[in-house]
Amino acid sequence: MALDIAKVRTRLEGDKKRLLGELEQLSVAGRPSEERREGSPFGKREEEATESLELERRLALERGIKEQLTAFESALAKITAGTYGKCDVCGKPIEPARLEALPQARRCMSCKTLESKNAKR
Ligand SMILES: [Zn+2]
Repeated sequence: MALDIAKVRTRLEGDKKRLLGELEQLSVAGRPSEERREGSPFGKREEEATESLELERRLALERGIKEQLTAFESALAKITAGTYGKCDVCGKPIEPARLEALPQARRCMSCKTLESKNAKR
């Protein structure tokens, strides 16, 4: 089964746009004045604690979105470079079914399985 790169690219670009929109909404909703303060995120007063909890949650969400964005961008870069669909670890082609489900996948199924096994230690 051949992979329709043009379709994949459209899909990746669409997802990327959606994520960028989400990111924008997050920053509009939150407007973090001090994004990354050093030390403990927990304030002295309860009010502050709630606020930092909110901030923490938003930052975590933002981090997740940014990570996804990076994955999409690297997939798009690989399409441009002509290396799309190859596993980052072993260099073998990633299963088309896997790419169908997860176009930004960077590893083939067996490398991914191996990695999650290692991470579980
Ligand atoms: Zn692999």
